[in-house]
Amino acid sequence: MATIFTKIINGEIPCYKIAEDDKYFAFLDINPVKKGHTLVIPKIEDDYIFNLDDDTLMGLTLFAKKVALAIESAMPCKRIGVAVMGMEVPHVHIHLVPMESEGDLNFAKQKLQLSSEEMDAIAEKIRKEM
Ligand code: AMP
Repeated sequence: MATIFTKIINGEIPCYKIAEDDKYFAFLDINPVKKGHTLVIPKIEDDYIFNLDDDTLMGLTLFAKKVALAIESAMPCKRIGVAVMGMEVPHVHIHLVPMESEGDLNFAKQKLQLSSEEMDAIAEKIRKEM
């Protein structure tokens, strides 16, 4: 069965899309730890980043770099933090989080509640920097 992220790629589930190419896709995390928290995924399904073949992992990393630099330009932050967990969704994803301090990468804390208008506005802002 397709993962929830494959359904997002296929447009069966809505998302706040940031960028896409033939192999990779980026969209806002629906439960952000910070405004601009973005997920970058490969279009192929695998549940563990270190199962990816070298070319796919390299391509994913370079795609994430482009997205990270756009987030950094769009959102006030000191730098973009990177995390890979995959405890919830079994489809490889890299979290990109605009950080002010170390605590911003604490995924156990309460997530932000943002309206769809706010999420749309953030996605638009980041897309403009791509
Ligand atoms: P993890 O697998 O532990 O890295 O966490 C999965 C992440 O995916 C969480 O931060 C969720 O908020 C996020 N997530 C789950 N479903 C969606 C969705 N439909 N759209 C955007 N983000 C999602």
